[in-house]
Amino acid sequence: MVVEIIINSNVKDLNKIFDYNVPTNLEEDIKIGRRVFVPFGRMKSLQEGFIIGIKEKSDYEIKDIASIQKEDYIEEEKINLAKLMARKYFCNISDCIKLMLPPGTTTKNIENRIKDKSARFIYLLKTEDEINEDIENKVIKSEKQKRILKFLIDNEEVSSVDLETFTNTTSANIKTLEQKGYIEIIEKAVERNPFTNKNIKPTSNLELTDEQKKAFDEINNNIKNNKFGEFLIFGVTGAGKTEVYLQLIGEVLKKDKTSIMLVPEISLTPQMVDRFIARFGEEKIAVLHSKLSVGERYDQWKKIETGNVKIVIGARSAIFAPVKDLGLIIIDEEHDSSYKSDKNPRYNSKEIARYLAKQKNIPLVLGSATPDIISYFNAINNKTNLICLTKRANNSSLPTVEIIDLKEELVNGNRSMLSNKLYTAIEENLKVKKQTILFLNRRGYSTFVMCRDCGYTVKCNKCNVSMTYHVEQNRLKCHYCGYERRNVTICPECNSKNIRYFGTGTEKLEAEIHKIFPNASTIRMDVDTVTKKNSHEMILNKFRDENIDILVGTQMVVKGHHFPNVTLVGVIAADSSLFMDDYKSNERTFQILTQVAGRAGREGNNGNVIIQTYNPDNFAIECSKLQNYKMFYDEEIKFRKLLKYPPFCDIIKIEINDINKNQIVSTATQIYDNLVKQNENNIMEIYKPMPAPIDKIKNRYRWRIIIRCRFSNTIIDKVNDSIIDIKGVNTRITVDVNPNSMI
Ligand code: ADP
Ligand code: ZN
Ligand code: ZN
Repeated sequence: MVVEIIINSNVKDLNKIFDYNVPTNLEEDIKIGRRVFVPFGRMKSLQEGFIIGIKEKSDYEIKDIASIQKEDYIEEEKINLAKLMARKYFCNISDCIKLMLPPGTTTKNIENRIKDKSARFIYLLKTEDEINEDIENKVIKSEKQKRILKFLIDNEEVSSVDLETFTNTTSANIKTLEQKGYIEIIEKAVERNPFTNKNIKPTSNLELTDEQKKAFDEINNNIKNNKFGEFLIFGVTGAGKTEVYLQLIGEVLKKDKTSIMLVPEISLTPQMVDRFIARFGEEKIAVLHSKLSVGERYDQWKKIETGNVKIVIGARSAIFAPVKDLGLIIIDEEHDSSYKSDKNPRYNSKEIARYLAKQKNIPLVLGSATPDIISYFNAINNKTNLICLTKRANNSSLPTVEIIDLKEELVNGNRSMLSNKLYTAIEENLKVKKQTILFLNRRGYSTFVMCRDCGYTVKCNKCNVSMTYHVEQNRLKCHYCGYERRNVTICPECNSKNIRYFGTGTEKLEAEIHKIFPNASTIRMDVDTVTKKNSHEMILNKFRDENIDILVGTQMVVKGHHFPNVTLVGVIAADSSLFMDDYKSNERTFQILTQVAGRAGREGNNGNVIIQTYNPDNFAIECSKLQNYKMFYDEEIKFRKLLKYPPFCDIIKIEINDINKNQIVSTATQIYDNLVKQNENNIMEIYKPMPAPIDKIKNRYRWRIIIRCRFSNTIIDKVNDSIIDIKGVNTRITVDVNPNSMI
């Protein structure tokens, strides 16, 4: 017997099928999807691989496999999916297979694993690329240390106990890596068990409104008839989408099948999960997201494998959960960019969901109050089914939204961050003890620091971006690589002491609020306060439970959580997401503003939203004032058509990345020339190589080539052929199809 093996490696040259002979004593354990250990080339240690095919004999002279790991395997159909993904997302098959393995087991086989009770968590201080480089250059030689680092690359929120058991290492190995500066160890309260609240009152189906009933019937028809169909439920927040999901899941349950519901990581709160537990009970539900410890995630995965779980609720990668008998896939807040992975493999879980739904003959339900332009385009062009929920199910009214022109404020002599209107509204809200949320999409204190005499600005040593001043630590930080330095008080160019701070971040906003309203209590939520020790959940709970007057935050504040006492939302500057060099910036602005507005006045209270901007005429801002998605869509789709952006074409971003500035230019040119040669019939529109908008991050230069085309198998081959022979010691090439960001 011969097996076809994929070696577990992200080295491009190893993305091939290798044949191995199976010794007779191992034959009975052979199964597609199982893990094996094999001798490979001149490597001293055995390599891990996956069986992806079984056959009688091989045309080559081949070696024996050394051992088989029997605990875990992947279904054959998932292996096929991994093969397709590797092609479509330009990565190795083994990278995709890893997404389908039980959490925590992607690095090495596991023999015994104990439940996580530890309070020490381990975090990486270096990036995946830096670590791989150090391993290649033999800076890290110990196999155990390599295993630890690779495990940490693949898994978030890893406790020391999990780390030691999963990688078969000791606390001494971890300590060494800490001393070498690769990791940090942080004491932390053990995260909640996915199901902590034991006193959830059971609920039963609500009587559906006419609109809900129509939505339910239409989708249920596909469930009953085992038929694929894609549905977009477009309905404002509070329109009762979740109630429809619950009842559909109930129908799937009657058929003894399983439902997967994807939610953006940040919306996956205990309150959200409780609603499902209240309806279906805890035993039937599994939850998968990165805030669980690896041990907990492993347990959830195994619980799903048994087939007892009928509902899987999870973030992006939960689409790969090993469910038996899939009956329905729901993607809530389908416009959310987190469904597209921006690291390897760069998959889009919506595309995976569509593939699975077609394969299993089941419906795929997308839901949003602000659908992705592409989803809505598909729906109104009858490629998918559009279902509209136009009214709020609980009859609460939408908030009123006002736009304030900041240019006018300036003309009237108001240089403060708060317009007169917003100032008065906060003041009134404080008087009546209602809560306020202030939203600003930049963190830190000042977004750049400049010498007034010579114009010098402080830039990061490693990246071509200006550094942000953080007043609390009195330090300058780079928001791209994390590099920090002492604040400058004397200009390094001209020795002037005339240093000025420009731009506003959340830290400065909170300080200003303290100055203006000294008696108001505030809490801030951004990447700086949501540290590894202090979850975003805790900040939001504190805001609600302690009735803190004002929450200041970045876009983290816009999702999840009901705040019954919030009646005012202020957007300090709606312009920050508008002027990025990105065709999605209008869409993002509209989505964020609509979502922020949705935070105000959700329960009976009348909500008031004040949006400050320098561009009151921008249509994304205008439409969010009217909370009119349709109007926004009509305008945006014209713009996309005119400038040829998705859905009218696909965009491929090839990023070339190198420490050597000269090398990168020649590599990029070579790829470009190859592409042009491949393009005989002009099916691609290839743009000349250019430096990326941020052309250096972490000492690596960044260039890119943009292609517009209709993505297809032919295109995949052409792109692959153009990059396949490119080799450079420090060259990295990534291909991203319809990327989240053009930066
Ligand atoms: P969405 O998911 O669209 O934001 P939800 O399903 O959470 O909306 O519904 C919003 C509120 O309306 C919830 O409090 C829910 O219990 C209530 N609700 C939903 N459907 C109904 C219904 N048919 N009858 C009464 N209340 C409903
Ligand atoms: Zn100067
Ligand atoms: Zn930097």
